[in-house]
Amino acid sequence: MQTKFPLSQINDPNIKDANDILRSCVHCGFCNSSCPTYLLMGDELDGPRGRIYLIKEMLENDRPASPVDVKHLDRCLGCLSCMTACPSGVNYMHLMEYGRRHIEQTYRRSFFERLVRNFLGVVLPNPKIFKFMLGLAVIFRGFKKFLPRNLRKTAHYVSNLKIQGKVVTPNRYMPISKHKYRVGMLTGCVQSQLNPEINKATIRLLNRHGCEVIVIEDVECCGALNLHLGQKAKAFKHIKSNVDAWCNEAERSKLDAIIVNTSGCGTTVKDYGHLLRDDEKYSQKAKNISLLSVDIIEFISRIGLRGTSIEEKLTVAYQAPCSLQHGQLIRDEPLELLKACGFEVVVPNHEDLCCGAAGTYHILQGKLSEELQTKKIKSLVECSPDIIATGNVGCMMQLKTSETNILSFPVVHTVELLDWGTGGPKPPSMN
Ligand code: SF4
Ligand code: SF4
Repeated sequence: MQTKFPLSQINDPNIKDANDILRSCVHCGFCNSSCPTYLLMGDELDGPRGRIYLIKEMLENDRPASPVDVKHLDRCLGCLSCMTACPSGVNYMHLMEYGRRHIEQTYRRSFFERLVRNFLGVVLPNPKIFKFMLGLAVIFRGFKKFLPRNLRKTAHYVSNLKIQGKVVTPNRYMPISKHKYRVGMLTGCVQSQLNPEINKATIRLLNRHGCEVIVIEDVECCGALNLHLGQKAKAFKHIKSNVDAWCNEAERSKLDAIIVNTSGCGTTVKDYGHLLRDDEKYSQKAKNISLLSVDIIEFISRIGLRGTSIEEKLTVAYQAPCSLQHGQLIRDEPLELLKACGFEVVVPNHEDLCCGAAGTYHILQGKLSEELQTKKIKSLVECSPDIIATGNVGCMMQLKTSETNILSFPVVHTVELLDWGTGGPKPPSMN
């Protein structure tokens, strides 16, 4: 794609990067058929190629974002299915980030939108505030009918949640077999509060595989939630704090990996090196952290699954999170590990399409999110599974919050099944 950025703009490293990405696009449109919003809306501007043009036009003319730009870029899930489909290797993820930041810097949203986005950007990444809000949601569950529809669905889910077990606390969790690896672990902000069992299963699985697991006090949110809302300053604050905390820990004693069990967060941590590439103080440190970062599935595949023991014959429908399959290119490993545990694994139709969760998308774009959710649930039900497994707490929540399609199957994180399949307890949500 031809671009015409003036030299004065190209001196900005972000614009230079955006320019390089734009020039790699040959506007063939192959990406459109893989885009969930293009398939739903049938509008070029709701597909990746159209959005690339919108971002190009905005940045190249250095003009404020228009309501049309905002409408179509806001509708993007950030699922990155278009990156998998693109034959030219266009880095849509980075380009979209520049687009979102430009919108936040140049466009004044309505009062209500600003309120909701700021609320989400403050509450979700902060486990203490999030926990407090969970408590309020339970106390005031009777008032949820007064909320807008998008928020009502989420409020309904969290106020009826039976949170099982205590949250994992900062500590060193020692291996129960021969000590082989020392790994850091991201326990996550929303996940750690909504479903503590995922972190516990991860630690048990790692301990059983010879890993000492370090959970550090100062590491909480990975920054992805703020980043996707275009809130760069808030996101970078989390990112730098995490980089410092992990680098300090790695200086104390070598870390073999940083384990992430929420695939949306993993995609962002793997991108820290890129995000802080122009920061003199942080660029090398951030790069080192990105190189250490691995999804739990990737790590277990790498070191080899041991001690498989499941005896029940159960069919697992695997719902691939976009951030795992498109963002981190981890596709076959979850299926292979589940099979190695003795589960029969089935994959739903349209496995590459997003379930509509996409971070805060299910709250901000409720209608589109619900349409994708309905399609995803239908394809999973058609598999007639005993269990549904996925690798991201956002997808788990999305599959459980439908008001019209009530799933009768337990929805668990893949790591809970791997833990069970190698000698750990049965996931509590299956009892
Ligand atoms: S498939 Fe790639 S090169 Fe083709 S239009 Fe989409 S982003 Fe551009
Ligand atoms: S990230 Fe997903 S929703 Fe956005 S343009 Fe790409 S395929 Fe479409």
